[in-house]
Amino acid sequence: AVPRGIVASSEVEQSYVMIKPDGVQRGLEHYKDLKDKPFFPTLIDYITSGPVVCMAWEGDGVVASARKLIGSTNPLQAEPGTIRGDLAVQTGRNVVHGSDSPDNGKREIALWFKEGELCQWESVQTPWLVK
Ligand code: UDP
Ligand code: MG
Repeated sequence: AVPRGIVASSEVEQSYVMIKPDGVQRGLEHYKDLKDKPFFPTLIDYITSGPVVCMAWEGDGVVASARKLIGSTNPLQAEPGTIRGDLAVQTGRNVVHGSDSPDNGKREIALWFKEGELCQWESVQTPWLVK
């Protein structure tokens, strides 16, 4: 089987990162914490509108570093050089998701990946980048 995600162990901090449908082309109740928000119905329409690319990332501080790379929720407030800052225009079409806490990282990875879908993998560059 072709591995769908890459993750080494449950002891290390993890973040679920997802390229949203607009990111793929230009559902799931993943957003249950937002179910009472006024934008929830449009958010669910959006997130189920097409295929997404799912990723499990792990490493020290990965939740914060993924969110730094992704940028602010509203692309207009996202810094240049971030994914949302460079590639998105509207909050409702902001290209990419990243978990907001280590606990939610574990929860979301468990929601989007089945047992056995994640594999252990290390780039040959890792020892040159991380001690
Ligand atoms: N969202 C929206 N309208 C809003 C706030 C959020 O459509 O006023 C959408 C947007 O796609 C956002 C997602 O809901 O990325 C989840 O909201 P959250 O506040 O968790 O932002 P995030 O963690 O993605 O930066
Ligand atoms: Mg969030």
